[in-house]
Amino acid sequence: MLKQQAVLHDSFGRRHDYIRISVTDKCNLRCVYCMPEEGLPFFPDERVLSCAEIIQMVKNFARMGIKKVRLTGGEPLMRSDIIEIIKGISAITEIDDISMTTNGLALPKMAKRLYQAGLNRLNISLDTFDKKRYKEITRGGNLDRLLKGIDTASQLPFKKIKINTVIINGQNDHEIADFLKYTFDHDVNLRFIEFMPIQQDERWKKQYRGLDAIFNACQTNHWIYEPIRLDGNGPSENYKIGGAKGSFGLIHPISCNFCESCNRLRITADGYIKSCLYWDDEENIRAAIFDFDSFREKIQHALAIKPKNHEMALLNQEQVKNKKPTWRHMSQIGG
Ligand code: SAM
Ligand code: SF4
Repeated sequence: MLKQQAVLHDSFGRRHDYIRISVTDKCNLRCVYCMPEEGLPFFPDERVLSCAEIIQMVKNFARMGIKKVRLTGGEPLMRSDIIEIIKGISAITEIDDISMTTNGLALPKMAKRLYQAGLNRLNISLDTFDKKRYKEITRGGNLDRLLKGIDTASQLPFKKIKINTVIINGQNDHEIADFLKYTFDHDVNLRFIEFMPIQQDERWKKQYRGLDAIFNACQTNHWIYEPIRLDGNGPSENYKIGGAKGSFGLIHPISCNFCESCNRLRITADGYIKSCLYWDDEENIRAAIFDFDSFREKIQHALAIKPKNHEMALLNQEQVKNKKPTWRHMSQIGG
């Protein structure tokens, strides 16, 4: 049993009990909102945290009061030792929730082993119900395989599955009613996510669409929805349409900034801590993983400099003085 330390707070009093670990920057897709079309040079293997380092890092965090861990990427299921990583984390008794964000393509083969290794929840990305469009948005993905992955995972006793849907103006926003209908007969929490300007060029302004479109679709279809509370749901606001098995959520960091309730720290695959998704502040913590006191110092420093908020809503990023947005693409952070 690890000795429990006080819970982590930043300088604005926000409590931190949640870490997101990107276990790889590699991915088998190149989604339009995440990676450039030509791809990115992936980190060489030796630059990426090993399984032993990830497990020791989570033990350190558990000593500092962290209870929830999300594994992300790149695509976390591209790591050949992902089962070993999950087993190692699941053996840490202070961690009470292990989740993963995945593009779902490997779930038909891997869902059962993930569950057996101790994974508690899955967030699966699904941006369209149209095969051709899925291939375009993901630059190569196979929708049938993804839907089979969701189906396979749904038959296992994971906690409620979440579906992540990034709304892209002109590409999938006309499917909003179809996504809402999907919640009628699927017991999932479908989260509409605003397209965030992380390493995006000017085209982003045209591709961004605010999430008021979701409520408009409910009204047009005369669907009555009510707010609901879901456990451990972080920044999303959740609703259920009358009679639906599932629910829907809105994650709108741009139109409705939720930084005041941010409870997360992010660790990149190459061992940097990022206290905010947006800004370029980051510090390498890899060398400190096996030295708890210096590890704790680095985490406390990251929290001390955690900014109050991001500035994604500033369409002209040059307006932001003295601070630079991150150099990383989303696949190099983890979402
Ligand atoms: N490969 C996994 C996946 O796609 O689910 C995990 C990594 S991905 C970076 C994590 C989440 O970030 C996904 O749900 C993805 O849709 C979302 N994401 C990526 N780029 C984004 C952007 N620019 N704006 C909003 N969400 C984004
Ligand atoms: Fe890969 Fe996920 Fe990024 Fe798509 S969103 S390119 S699946 S890391």
